[in-house]
Parts: sequence; C-alpha cells; structure tokens
Amino acid sequence: MSRYEVIIIGGGPGGLTAGLYASRAGLKTLLFERGMFGGQIVNARQVDNYPGFPAGISGAELASLMHQQAIKYGLETITTEVTAIEPGPTYNVVITGGNFEAEAIIIAAGSEYRKLGVPGEEKLLGRGVSYCATCDAFFFRDQDVAVVGGGDTAITDALELSEHASRVYIIHRRDQLRAGQALQKLAFAQPKLKPIWDTVVDEVAGEDKLSGLRLRNVKTNETTNLQVSGVFVAVGLEPNSQCFAGIVDTDEAGNIKTNELMATSAPGIFAVGDIRKNSARQVTSAVGDGATAAISAFKYLRERS
Ligand code: NAP
Repeated sequence: MSRYEVIIIGGGPGGLTAGLYASRAGLKTLLFERGMFGGQIVNARQVDNYPGFPAGISGAELASLMHQQAIKYGLETITTEVTAIEPGPTYNVVITGGNFEAEAIIIAAGSEYRKLGVPGEEKLLGRGVSYCATCDAFFFRDQDVAVVGGGDTAITDALELSEHASRVYIIHRRDQLRAGQALQKLAFAQPKLKPIWDTVVDEVAGEDKLSGLRLRNVKTNETTNLQVSGVFVAVGLEPNSQCFAGIVDTDEAGNIKTNELMATSAPGIFAVGDIRKNSARQVTSAVGDGATAAISAFKYLRERS
C-alpha cells in the first residue's frame, strides 16, 4: 500500500491550494479528484472577484493555473473517487480497487447541486432540465426558460440566460430575493426577467423533452402551468460529505465542523471549502482554507514525529 504524509480529497480551489502548500513545504502529498480539477469554478464563465485579475478570468483558466502551480511543486494527483476513510494508527483511504495510507487528510470534496426532488426532474435532465446556465444557456436561444431559486446563483444564471433566451422567469418560493443587492439591481433592470413570487415547482412536464412546469403558489395553493422549454435549478448546494459520516463531526445538513485551523473532530483530518460548516462558499475563502489546512497538517505531522 502506498503511504503519503498528506492525502487531499477533492481538486477544487481549496484542495489544489492545500496541495500547493503541502507539496511546497516538502510533504509527500497525493490529491484525489473524481471529476475535473477546479471543481465548480470550471463552469463559471467569468470570475470577477478573485484578487489579482482585475479584468476577470474564466473559471476554467483559473482552475488550470491552480492545477499547474500545485503540480509544479510536486503534488501527485489521481483521478478517481474516494469511497471511505478508515481510522487506524494511520488513516486508510479507500478508492475503487485500492487503498492508500495517509498520516494526515485534507477533505476538500466540495458540494453538489441540490435537487428539487419533483416528478420529471431526473427524467428530463439534459432534455430541458439543467443545473448549469454557463454550460447550457446557449441551447435556449430565443426560447422561454425558467430559473428556480432566489440566491446569487439563480440571479447570475438568469442574467446569463437573458443574453440568449427570449424570456426568463425567476420562480422563487418567497417574495424577496436572497441574492446580493448588486445582482438584484441588475436583475430588476433587465426587462427579459420576470419574477414569479411565492411559488414552487410541483412537476417538470414532458415526455422526451421538457414542455412546461406545474407551479403552485404557496400562499394561495393555486396551481398553474408555465410553458417553457428549459428550467435551470439553482436552489443551493449540498456537501459531498456522505462517505465521511461517522469519521468527522458534521451539522444536521452534513457540513463538516472545523475550528479556525480547519481541524475536524478527528485528529489529523482537516476540511476546507464548501464542505465546511460556515464556509463563505467563495473561491477566495476556499483558497484561504486550503492554505490554513496545509499549514495545520504540517504542524500536526511535525508534532507527531
Ligand atoms: P443559496 O444562497 O443557498 O440560495 C438558494 C436559493 O434557493 C434560495 O433563494 C432558497 O430560497 C432557494 N431554495 C432552497 N431550497 C429550495 C427548494 N427546495 N425549492 C425552492 N427553492 C429553494 O445558494 P446559491 O445561490 O447557490 O449560492 C451559494 C453560495 O455561493 C452563496 O454563499 C452565494 O453568495 C455564493 N455565490 C456567489 C456568487 C457571486 O457572484 N458572488 C454567485 C453564485 C453563488 P430561500 O431564499 O427562501 O431560502
């Protein structure tokens, strides 16, 4: 079994920064990523609030630069999914068909899109249902679409969609947006955006492709049909912490609890980024978490030896 001083689970900005710091500090470090390096920022067409890039940078480019920089300092990476962590004198990190030994672990597994959980949503995924406006907005040129949610993601998605679609409904379960004031101002100034307040989606309709949504007003219980050819679900994120349950303490939503050093309840296990309770869920905060966790892991290993 291969042994590493630090194993990082997840290759988004938090994980890659932890990898850069740990490798540069001379620790033998391996990072597992199950999908694309960069995590969710890969889907961001433009990142405007990452310091150092006053003209903005595409998420994919920023991710690629972070990856290159970490590799340059010796970070090893494997693209596969971690299925479990087993405690012992050192930790056993289990992947499909293999095991790796780690003295310290940094969990940077991020979060994934929350689903509405209504009939038709799963069946019509990729046939009108999407969780990524940056990826799919282009396919809805001159068509009517809906975005579900009232947060920053929903409004960013709606604004992006308004560059392609003829009309963009924003379906929100309350009568006030959660999104920041700057985004709200842009949204209310865009004539293509039509909010539908106090409303939830009960069903995504269609056989081979989406034909409309069954909506319900939560105040009156009145149901209506909305004809759209696409729906973009932007109702938040859920932490990818299922396979760490029982190893580290989480809150009721599954977010991993850490202290200010990114240490979890388990000795030698640290957590960073979106998977962490009270994360600011920003690229910049994930990067800060990653640096802190790597420094904490370094101190933990030195005190242990
Ligand atoms: P979020 O802030 O958690 O907002 C989720 C939205 O979906 C809320 O409006 C919520 O309604 C609604 N919602 C949740 N569950 C629902 C359900 N089952 N059915 C219908 N509606 C539901 O999530 P987010 O917008 O993805 O943002 C996540 C984080 O990323 C935030 O911290 C955000 O600031 C950050 N972010 C920042 C930017 C940026 O430009 N700076 C862009 C994107 C995201 P309620 O309001 O009623 O709870």
